[in-house]
Parts: sequence; structure tokens; C-alpha cells
Amino acid sequence: MSSTRSDAAVGSGGSSPGAHTERVLVVEDEPALLRALEINLRARGYQVSSSADGQAALAEAARRPPDAVLLDLGLPDMDGNEVIRRLRAWTAVPVLVLSGRAGSGDKIGALDSGADDYVTKPFSMEELLARLRALLRRDAQPSSRQVFTIGHCTIDLVAKSVTRRLDNDAAPDGAEPVRLTKTEWRMLEILLRSPGQLVSSGRLLSELWGPGAEDRTYYLRFHMAGLRRKLEDDPPRPSHLLTEPGMGYRYQS
Ligand code: CA
Repeated sequence: MSSTRSDAAVGSGGSSPGAHTERVLVVEDEPALLRALEINLRARGYQVSSSADGQAALAEAARRPPDAVLLDLGLPDMDGNEVIRRLRAWTAVPVLVLSGRAGSGDKIGALDSGADDYVTKPFSMEELLARLRALLRRDAQPSSRQVFTIGHCTIDLVAKSVTRRLDNDAAPDGAEPVRLTKTEWRMLEILLRSPGQLVSSGRLLSELWGPGAEDRTYYLRFHMAGLRRKLEDDPPRPSHLLTEPGMGYRYQS
């Protein structure tokens, strides 16, 4: 005798093309916002579990491991950062933080605790859904893409080459190679491997220079300026290699 049943609004037996089968755990103590999130996620075919506090969320995550977690930082029973740390003790599930505070300190704390990205309340539902899709894509197809474009430049991660298209009258079909330094390459590669996602300064610094370099964000600014100068069509107003002030960087295709 089993009382187990699917919590999805629609039967789980179907496999309609394009429908998500991912389960999203929503942790939010504001009933109206929780309800809006549930409705929007279900409307797009996600299965949704929800919890209104940290303890319930941790229990639910352990019982039915989700594919992604949307987590409010201000919960009635514990700090959202504590929820992230406890999740990270056993799972690498993507965590998208819903931050209610305007300052960047709590977001940095959440990223340090192991969150993958954040949106600030009040957020647009479309932005939240786009961030969620980016996190789920990362898990579904790690590093499957090898060729990217930024403005007039094409970056091939396998060939380790960058070429810039020249559309002038002298060379209508011409292209020229763009030379990147070793550090620029590694930084660019880390960003391109996570399209649409925030990559924290701390992660970039530790991957590029090892432990102990986490406070040297001026290294990143220097090399990012070089990348933009070489790749962006309008370096002072980049449209692909974006800065998230105080947080890190994001590659937007
Ligand atoms: Ca709250």
C-alpha cells in the first residue's frame, strides 16, 4: 500500500516535446511570492516542490533531490546561507538565490556559501526563468559548445583561435586573427563555459591564480579590459562580457 503520488499538476507519464521534466524546489516564506513562482514554473512545465522555511527545505531536498533550488535568503527559521552550506555538504544542485536586500554583501555571502546565481527582489519573472534555464543547461550539457561569437569575433575553444571578421570594402570576406594572452584565454574560457551565468570574482581568481588571490580583483579588471578591447565591438559599452558590480562577470551571448 503506497500513498506515493506525483505532485505534478499534470500526469508524469506524458513526454510532450519541449516540456521540462526538471524538478525545482522553491524555498520562500512570502505566500504571495511563493504562489506566483509555483504558478509560473508549473505553467512552463517544471515540477515544483515548495517549502516555507529552511528545515522543511532541507528535508524535502533530501527526500526528493531537486534539479534546481530557488532560495529566499530571509527565512523565518534560519539564514538562507546556512541552507546553502548544508545543501553543499552533499549536493552540487544549482542554487539560485532570491535576494531581498539591496546591498551586495548578502549576495557575496550567498555566492561564497555556494550559491550559483542570484536575482534581487523585486525581480522580473522572465529574468528569473532565464537564469534558471541557464543553470539547468549547465548541468544538462557541460561544455558541449565549442564555438562562440562576440561582436565581429569568432572564438573556437578547441582550436584555441579567435578571428575577427573584417567588413570593409577592401576585404569584404576577410578575417584577421586576434591574439589573446594566456591569462585572457583562461578567463574567457571559464566565462564561455557558463553562458548566461554569473561567475564570481572569487572563483575566477582562485582558478586563475590559485588560493590566496581572492582579494586581487584588480587583476580581473585588468585582464577583462584587455579581452573587451580585443573582442567587443564597443569596448567601453560591452554587450557580451558583462561586469556584475561587486560580484563577478557574466558572458551573455
Ligand atoms: Ca523572506
